[in-house]
Amino acid sequence: MKRIYLDNSATTPLCAEALAAYTAVATESYGNPSSRHRMGQEALRILQEAEKEVLLALGAKDGRVIFTSGGTEGNNLALFGRAFAKERFARGGKILTTRGEHASVNAPLASLAARGFQTVDIGTAGGVLDLEGLAAAADEKVFLASLMAANNETGALYDIAAASDILRAGCPDAALHVDATQSFMKHPFTVKSLGADMVTVSSHKVEGPKGVGALWVSGALLKKRGLSPILLGGGQQDGLRSGTENVPGIAGFAAALRVWREKGEERRCRVASLRAALLEGLQREELRDSVLPLLPPVFLDNILNIEVKGIRSETVLNDLSGRGIFVSAGSACSSHDAHLSPALLAYGKTKDGADSSVRVSLSYRNTEEDIEALLCALADIVKSRQKKR
Ligand code: PMP
Repeated sequence: MKRIYLDNSATTPLCAEALAAYTAVATESYGNPSSRHRMGQEALRILQEAEKEVLLALGAKDGRVIFTSGGTEGNNLALFGRAFAKERFARGGKILTTRGEHASVNAPLASLAARGFQTVDIGTAGGVLDLEGLAAAADEKVFLASLMAANNETGALYDIAAASDILRAGCPDAALHVDATQSFMKHPFTVKSLGADMVTVSSHKVEGPKGVGALWVSGALLKKRGLSPILLGGGQQDGLRSGTENVPGIAGFAAALRVWREKGEERRCRVASLRAALLEGLQREELRDSVLPLLPPVFLDNILNIEVKGIRSETVLNDLSGRGIFVSAGSACSSHDAHLSPALLAYGKTKDGADSSVRVSLSYRNTEEDIEALLCALADIVKSRQKKR
């Protein structure tokens, strides 16, 4: 059976260039970058080149790239690292975040809240970051704000630049961390256009190897020692992340970014046209009253959340999976309210709506035939449901 992969926000296949780079480094340039000899120096140069590629992809003119094991570690480092910095722990303080962040932001923040920090969730109703709410919460006690660039479930893109201006005006000590795991390469930005002090990215979302990522940290934040390490040991990466670097993975990540640099625009256009085809198809008579796309005002083209009215997302996901079409559930597979997607509820979906939502996430590799297959399958699912009634 043909596999139709429409879960590209969960992960992507490794591109050929990344695989070639990974293999070459793993089998030929396998020295430890901390070793003083020539093979070590060769590995170190590979890391330095990869750092340049990540800086270029982020449009960053200063600061450092700390290579991590992925988006989860980047987020943990940004949040705990900021909270650990310079006696912060003793003093407490306030952290601002959005409602509906990824678990790798929510869970560290819950842990910090349990240790005495105050956390404030800023609303994201209708897929729009509540800037008034942010302004009301922005005071001199804030030392950290963690705002995602785009939501991984709804595809909503938030106005991080405006949020950054508000924070700069109201919170002299605040560092702005942006989880850009989903928007990286899918929607052009620079660290300056975001107004960020730290940015998390992940390699496997952009056709690089899994288990690799980066946290960019601004020169200014580093200078004021505003971030502490969370992994201690051999002092690699200027002491900010101990542990022998995953040099083959990092080289693979850089190779994937090089391809995006060349083909990004073409890929983004392709995805936008596939999204348009999908939205148009959802207007067909057999679908238009039963399948409702979520349409945030500003969005990532590659993510479309759809509600299949009256059918649990688990059922839709399994049915599609049986036909070789792979999407993901907008909410976890449980009837328990607590498991409904916080991002969808924060958006303003009803509990029933959230419980019937699936996320379709596109790649430039998808075809019009893939979209057609999805539309036909959805029509079938809706029809057989109607028959059962
Ligand atoms: N943040 C967001 C918004 C994500 O979508 C993901 C991946 N689902 C992560 C962080 C975690 O990234 P990783 O899988 O590389 O740990």
